[in-house]
Amino acid sequence: MNIGVVGAGYVGLVTAVCLAEVGHNLKVVEVNAEKVEKLNNGECTIYEAGLTELLQNNIQAGRLNFTNHLTDMINDCEAIFLCVGTPPKEDGSADLSQIEAAVKEIVAQSNEGQYKLIVVKSTVPVGTADWLKEIVSSHATGRQVIEIASNPEFLREGVAVNDFMEPDRIILGVSSIEGKRLLEKLYEPFACPKIITDSNTAEVIKYAANSFLATKISFINMVSDLCEEVAADVSQVAEGMGYDKRIGPEFLKAGIGFGGSCFPKDLSAFLHVGQARGLNFGLLEQVISVNEERPARIQKKIESLVGPLKGKTIAFLGLAFKANTDDVRESPSAKLAALLKKEDVTIRATDPMASANFKAMYAPLAQSMDFFESAEETLKGSDCAVILTDWEHYKAIDWNKIKTIMNRAAVVDARNLYTEQNLRQLGYSYAGVGKELEK
Ligand code: NAD
Repeated sequence: MNIGVVGAGYVGLVTAVCLAEVGHNLKVVEVNAEKVEKLNNGECTIYEAGLTELLQNNIQAGRLNFTNHLTDMINDCEAIFLCVGTPPKEDGSADLSQIEAAVKEIVAQSNEGQYKLIVVKSTVPVGTADWLKEIVSSHATGRQVIEIASNPEFLREGVAVNDFMEPDRIILGVSSIEGKRLLEKLYEPFACPKIITDSNTAEVIKYAANSFLATKISFINMVSDLCEEVAADVSQVAEGMGYDKRIGPEFLKAGIGFGGSCFPKDLSAFLHVGQARGLNFGLLEQVISVNEERPARIQKKIESLVGPLKGKTIAFLGLAFKANTDDVRESPSAKLAALLKKEDVTIRATDPMASANFKAMYAPLAQSMDFFESAEETLKGSDCAVILTDWEHYKAIDWNKIKTIMNRAAVVDARNLYTEQNLRQLGYSYAGVGKELEK
């Protein structure tokens, strides 16, 4: 099938590459000319395991190309996926201007008489597809046949290719028989449950799923605070809870809280959606509030190990909002850095993939920080190491050797990465999350 994608960010790029991989012909329009040039040269613009190889293979096979102009692809495609951003507005609601602009452009450029399905993959509030249908009918000429469907995306950065290729489920919010047939054919290569529903239901599913996952994280973080007070171990509490099939072990990891481009904004948007209808969505307010307190709790842990922060040097291991991605949007590291900078702390930082993005996204903050390639270099002369991203290779750090180059042997493990190793036995003052605190 000939398929279009609008927006070559994390979701659009993975969608396009994976749909090409299963045999469809993909044309991707992206406003950022630099991205288009790189991608057409087979250079991946995001870090995502396995993506570069698939990108290059499918470009070579002639199934995938990128352009700056919608006109280059619009009338060749039966379905067009919208994968543009839906960032939060000041009031927490979702900014749909990129979606609106893309739909208006598609309508303006579409030939008459040819059926076209616009599939919204971006995360949008309930009612968006219906609103887009109105936009289409008020801008389309009488002979354009353009339908809107909702197909929310659930991939996780870091394992996005795998998530896309082997999804837990596919949600198709589509109203016409023609649209349903088209999407079923398009997703035929994917063997997973497919829920065919209306667009409102599809839109609620996405926000509800993300809000529920974020709730699990804040819940375990709340429990972890109690564990610290009563000398219990939150990792074991989570393990004990997780074996219960009704609960499950995922998303029960206490730490510095969630970040990234999805959970914070989707929670705020879902809260806004509920409140706008006069409903009690206060539960989500609490989820957000628990999460917002996390960086300050980590700051307190650093203070508990090294004393007053003024003039201290703190080493950040990790800048990405989670492991295996270069994404730093809403990264807890940036939040902690902002707090520490108020205390006149010197911050040395490293990340295997995300340093460049961090410097670009948090420019003024980053200018006051020092960046290094390796963890070892970063830790030199520091008063405390803070584990901020759960990169697997940080587990292999030789802390015995590192002790000799740090100014003070102290580690705050904001991701509970060192559950197996006992850094205290190596002579470190150590603070994890939700565990007995240093005596
Ligand atoms: P992103 O910012 O990485 O990518 C969006 C891309 O769209 C950018 O490259 C931008 O230049 C481009 N763009 C904007 N307007 C355009 C237009 N009119 N024509 C062509 N290109 C245009 O965003 P993302 O992380 O890929 O997220 C996209 C959507 O998917 C959001 O709604 C997000 O909530 C949702 N989502 C994201 C994830 C994730 O893990 N990142 C997972 C599931 C859903």
